[in-house]
Amino acid sequence: MVDKQKKFYITTPIYYVNDKPHIGHAYTTIVADVLARFYRSQIGEDNVYFLTGTDEHGAKVAEAAKKQGLEPQTFTDQVSETFKDAWKNLDISYNYFIRTTEEKHKEIVVDILDKLKDAKTPLGNAVIYEGDYHGLYCVGCEKFILESELVNGKCPDHNKEPEKLVEKNWFFKLADYLLRVKQAIESGELVIYPETRKNEVLGLINKQDLPDFSISRSKKSVPWGIDLPWDDSQKTYVWVDALSNYITALGYPDGKDFKKFWPADAQFLALDILKFHAVYWPAILMALDLPLPKLYIHGFFTLDGKKMSKTLGNVISPNELVEKYGSEVSKYLILSQFSFGSESDIRVEEFPNKYNADLVNGLGNLVNRVTNMVEQYLDGEIDHKNFKDNRVGSEEIKNLRFREALLTIWQLIQKDNVMIDENKPWLLVKDEANKDQVKKLLEELSSDLYIIANSLMPFMPHKAQEIINILTAKKIKKPESPLFARLK
Ligand SMILES: [Zn+2]
Repeated sequence: MVDKQKKFYITTPIYYVNDKPHIGHAYTTIVADVLARFYRSQIGEDNVYFLTGTDEHGAKVAEAAKKQGLEPQTFTDQVSETFKDAWKNLDISYNYFIRTTEEKHKEIVVDILDKLKDAKTPLGNAVIYEGDYHGLYCVGCEKFILESELVNGKCPDHNKEPEKLVEKNWFFKLADYLLRVKQAIESGELVIYPETRKNEVLGLINKQDLPDFSISRSKKSVPWGIDLPWDDSQKTYVWVDALSNYITALGYPDGKDFKKFWPADAQFLALDILKFHAVYWPAILMALDLPLPKLYIHGFFTLDGKKMSKTLGNVISPNELVEKYGSEVSKYLILSQFSFGSESDIRVEEFPNKYNADLVNGLGNLVNRVTNMVEQYLDGEIDHKNFKDNRVGSEEIKNLRFREALLTIWQLIQKDNVMIDENKPWLLVKDEANKDQVKKLLEELSSDLYIIANSLMPFMPHKAQEIINILTAKKIKKPESPLFARLK
């Protein structure tokens, strides 16, 4: 990532309203939040834009609404609120929450469709053309599914035989862009991280198993969506509608925010939507003559070693975690478990132990000990003009190594706790001759604590501020109640 840039644009995918917020959504949103808070502290509040939102169109949404006896709009109004609530509970600092059913988005999508309809591919063909789609369609996935993706003739995700479907659709001529997308990936114009995912996308392109994709569906098969501007029989299909949220939110093409923030500096996504973001999305952007974003992909989650699934009943709502641990500890427990981009096992069973070890006995104890000793031995007086905001873990955060950033901070916490154990200031203080040594030791520890608190800002802004307030008060006092209460 570029160091001295003046803006930073971060997105999560828009989450599909057919689902409730779960820990997978929470993870993506938390890493985006940490990065947003970090860059705000580096380049200023106004120069960071953090977007999240909900994907609200499609046949499955219409079905789900009908089941509940609701109009689709009423249904999506309700579900998008559950996402907003979850992010409020987790204290997520997004700048804008986009909904694909909002007027601004719909208007700009129509504009984008018109532009694509008029555009020519690099080979001089029409970008958008009309054709018959003969395909196998999985209602569960809400998409055509390739023969090669079936297991025993069934969709592996839904264990259901797909239907044969032929319908008139409008298509995006992806074939004419594949070479350019490939070149963009190889040259680094389109960033895909980690490397394994980049290679996966290149492999997909080399296999030539990427047919042109539909940008519309008949109103019969997708009744809930944006009308296609030039064909009354069709609704806009998911790709252009959903993917374009990253630019409609900024007010493409003339909006001030669009001009300032596009291309995105970090688009976070999960593996299951890699192809759409790493192939379809850059092709659409090329057709619109727009620069390409940086894509950061995390793996699938397992919970305590098991696949997350509704049938196993192990889907955890982020709200449950926040209720038990509070928002900042929940974020810590999730981010400290595995490195970004790797296979990700969230060991919820270990959360209580990890909480007690790292937060109660680690950070909380250090704050307690240092402030208590400063209060007792130095009458609360430390010259905090000498404190330096030398953060640790910054390089790691810039490189999306969130777990490693936390490890670096916790190494300092551990070092300081050991320093106290070894120096035993409570013994030193008994002899007046050691007065300077005790003072020096407590100055160093307080100064470290200040660094620790500042380094924690992107992860735990409130706890970090609490520590800074204690350290920069006229007289340092031990907190009245512990920073992290021991779990019972
Ligand atoms: Zn399926």
